[in-house]
Amino acid sequence: MSANVADLKKKVCAEVDRLAPELYDIARRMYENPELGHQERASSAMLCDMAEKYGMMVKRKVAGMETSFVATAEGGGGAGAHIGILAEYDALPDIGHGCGHNIIGTASTGAALALKAVLPELPGRVTLFGTPAEEGVVDNAGGKVLMTNAGLFNDVDAAMCVHPSSQTMLGTSSTARYAFEVSFKGKPAHAAGSPHEGINALDALLLMYSGINALRQHVKEDVRIHGIITKGGVAPNIVPEFTQGRFYVRANDRNYLKDVIAKVENCARAGALATGATVSFRQTALTYENMLNNDVLGEAYKANLESLGVKVHPAPTKSGGGSTDMGNVSHVCPSIHPYIGICGPGIAGHSREFADATMTEAGRAGMVAAAKAMAMTAIDVLTDAGLRGAAKKEFEARK
Ligand SMILES: [Zn+2]
Ligand SMILES: [Zn+2]
Repeated sequence: MSANVADLKKKVCAEVDRLAPELYDIARRMYENPELGHQERASSAMLCDMAEKYGMMVKRKVAGMETSFVATAEGGGGAGAHIGILAEYDALPDIGHGCGHNIIGTASTGAALALKAVLPELPGRVTLFGTPAEEGVVDNAGGKVLMTNAGLFNDVDAAMCVHPSSQTMLGTSSTARYAFEVSFKGKPAHAAGSPHEGINALDALLLMYSGINALRQHVKEDVRIHGIITKGGVAPNIVPEFTQGRFYVRANDRNYLKDVIAKVENCARAGALATGATVSFRQTALTYENMLNNDVLGEAYKANLESLGVKVHPAPTKSGGGSTDMGNVSHVCPSIHPYIGICGPGIAGHSREFADATMTEAGRAGMVAAAKAMAMTAIDVLTDAGLRGAAKKEFEARK
């Protein structure tokens, strides 16, 4: 590492430390006022305002979303690499920031602003992408999918997003995910007086559910199919006329996912055929691609994190089963989605306890370490054409 690179890394770390109180105050305000996807008005405004305050060029409402933004800063002289740092800031229903996206939004903003402080000394540029609605709990979830489809990541050389977790480790693969709602329409009748006149839409849905349970042992082991019944009828003495359910289908491979979706839809058609109901489908979230973590960038990030004294555990060899729209980004540019520990292994993600963990000293330390390691890795990418080339080569080979 040249003296210059070492100096630049020292500077970005000092800058993150300087900004940390302000960043953590935003994380706290997000924790106190959690906002669901595509409704993150206060959260995105706080991040935009801070980016603007420190001199980034902010464009709000990009790719057709009210709560998205991009904030950019240009380097000094000459063409260079384009660094993408991705912020998330949406919460979960009932459990608030149980996925810790308040830490993601602030760590990423801190990394981008710290980089901005040294960019006059470097060629290249940094973009902080404000990406709404990562959680698939709202309609049209997947802000990064829309931003990817709009071509916003096409010229990015390295995209980074660090997720809080119970353990610090490199990113694992995540599954591709399809989310849909199924509706069955039957015919109401008195459930005791004239059941033979009715068509039972609840039976149709239950047959679909049973069909899916039978399907489970005939799909690859990485497949996950899970759902809920959201409408099951209105009264016991009326043959259920209309029922609805919501399901997610996931698989490691996006092509195999398509096969499984077709089989799941056939389970629904079987329920409709057996009962005489009609069935219809509606996609509820944008389809998430599987995550391709770039190992070249991941190793650089790991070395930077370790230089801060943070122990990095090996990534599990099997995917965690979850999905992220960072997967879509990883199919258009070299990307990493590592995890930063903010609590012990006894606390599960998507829980109130995990939301509380973002407000502990370990939560604050995780935010700071993630911001520093991302900014340091960006310096590696901006200053080392060899590293950039190797990351690109790996990306081309795997996509
Ligand atoms: Zn989550
Ligand atoms: Zn999350």
